[in-house]
This record gives sequence, C-alpha cells and structure tokens, in this order.
Amino acid sequence: MSEAPLLEATDVSVRFALRRRAFAAVDGVSLAIAQGETLGLVGESGSGKSTLGRALLRLVPLASGRVRFAEHDVGALDPATLRALRRRMQMVFQDASAALNPRMTVLDLVAEGLDIHQLARGPERAARVRALLAQVGVDEGALPAYPHELSGGQRQRVGIARALAVEPSLLVCDEPTSALDASVRAQVLNLLVDLREQRRLTMLFITHDLGVVRHISDRVAVMYLGRIFEEAPTEALFEAPRHPYTRALLASAPVPDPTQRKAFVAPKGEAASALDPPSGCAFHPRCPDAVERCARERPALVRIGARGAACHLHGAA
Ligand code: ADP
Ligand code: MG
Repeated sequence: MSEAPLLEATDVSVRFALRRRAFAAVDGVSLAIAQGETLGLVGESGSGKSTLGRALLRLVPLASGRVRFAEHDVGALDPATLRALRRRMQMVFQDASAALNPRMTVLDLVAEGLDIHQLARGPERAARVRALLAQVGVDEGALPAYPHELSGGQRQRVGIARALAVEPSLLVCDEPTSALDASVRAQVLNLLVDLREQRRLTMLFITHDLGVVRHISDRVAVMYLGRIFEEAPTEALFEAPRHPYTRALLASAPVPDPTQRKAFVAPKGEAASALDPPSGCAFHPRCPDAVERCARERPALVRIGARGAACHLHGAA
C-alpha cells in the first residue's frame, strides 16, 4: 500500500482526572488505518479503547499527539471545518438506547445528519431515510416509532443508518454488537460487513470479543492500560501471537467458530488500574515470562514489517 493511510494517529494521549488525580486513559498511541481497511481494537474493559476511538474523532480532547484524517490535522481544526469533517467520520455506539435521543422518532433520528449538514429536505429527506432503513433491514413502518418501541437489534440498525446517512468514509464501531442477544449479534455483524463492502468503508472496530474481531478485521491492535501492546494482520495474530499479553488473551478464549461469541476471560490476575499503572511494562505483574527489566523499563512498540510488539522478551530487543 503506497497510498497515505486515511487515518493516522501519532503519539496520542488522553488524560482524565478522577478525584483530582490526572491519569492517562490513552498513553502515547500511534496507529494508522489504510483506506478501505478494518482495524480491530481489542483489550479488556478499561484499557482505553472507547477513549481512543473518541479521541480519533475529536469527541474528547487530546492531551498530546496528533490525529490526521485525509489531509486534515483533526486536533487543529477550527469548529466549522471540524463540523464539516464530522460528515466523513462517524461512530456507532455500543449502547444504542443511550446514543439515541428517546424523544425523537426513527425518521428524525436517521435524518438528523441530513438536517445538520443540509443534505436533503422535504420528500427527498424522507426518501433517503426510507432507503437507509431498507439497507439496514428495518421496516419503514418503524419511521414514526420511538427508540424504546424497537428491539435491541432494530435500535442498533437505526444507529447504523444514522451514522451512514451522511455517507462517511470512516466508521468507528465501538462494541456495536456487545449489548445484543446472541441470535441478533451475528445478523448485525453481517450487516456491517455487507455495508462495508457496498460503501467501501474504512473501519476501526472496537470489541472485547475475539471471535468478532477475527471475523471482521484485516489487522488487529491489542490494547492494555492505554497502550498498544501488539499489532498484526489478523490471522498472524491469532496463529502466532507474540506478546505474552496477547498469548494470555487467546489462551483464555479459544475461538473455533468466528461467529460464536467468545468474550475473553481475563488472563490470570487483575488488570492493573490506569489510575495507578505498574512501573515498566504495565503487564509485568501478571506476565508469566516477566524478567527484572520488565518492572524497570517500559518497552516501546517496535514495528517490523506488518507486525509490532511492545515487549522486552520479543524480537531484537
Ligand atoms: P474501554 O473502552 O477499553 O473499556 P475506556 O476508554 O472506556 O476503556 O476507559 C479507559 C479508562 O478511562 C478507564 O479507567 C475509565 O474509567 C476512564 N474514563 C473513561 N471515560 C472517562 C471520563 N469521561 N472521565 C474520567 N475517566 C474516564
Ligand atoms: Mg469501551
């Protein structure tokens, strides 16, 4: 791939304050997503996946680092340009019932982006919404319905239609199927795969479900306590994980059938807190292979070819 990536994050950090203490929810992350590529982002709860996804769309401010989308420096945009750019970068949330305004009808929810960006009015607006609903598999009888009148699967389909209404090129999906029943999960996942093909979408797909990530991603980044620990093409990661953390994740949740839900069981020991991260490699207190250096020195993510790992025990380090 010689083209510049559509999205590129360089050394991005996001800080929050909790009980007056600042901590890094995202700590120096760099990643790139090529046009048309799907990057999976996996990690235990609290590792900073959602925060990173939001930071890439500038839904939370960056403490440091840079995000480039197409030719734009996302962090430096003035409000008008940022608003215009939002059309091209959309997000699908885990909890559609929280993401959808309960007082708006399906028609208005899906049309909201069309309204904001003045893309369609009157009969054209309604026609666009009907076409979108057809694409995501929601009956147009749902147009006057409110979110609480829909099933969980329908709500998420509406959330997807809403994101697609403005014809984005990048879609950040934040655990879009995690809140759904098993029977509906595969359908919604397949819908996203179909829409990605039809619309040539570039995706960041956040999940803690290894089966889902294997099914949908071209490449996978593994996150722990705000940092990327490993990055690899999907099959390479599953067949030959390099980081002890990745190995522990995969060992704790084998995924024979990619359509089956297999949220990983955390590797042994509790995940450390981002509020009080361990010295050196944040995984060292739980790592079966840790040596003295791991507690002392934080390993950098070393990329060689298509793969990268942040581990003293791996590669040339
Ligand atoms: P994940 O999506 O991987 O579960 P999050 O990005 O939601 O992780 O959270 C990463 C860390 O940041 C967690 O420790 C979480 O409690 C904290 N966090 C997330 N959002 C906020 C916020 N708005 N204010 C303070 N802390 C937050
Ligand atoms: Mg999250």
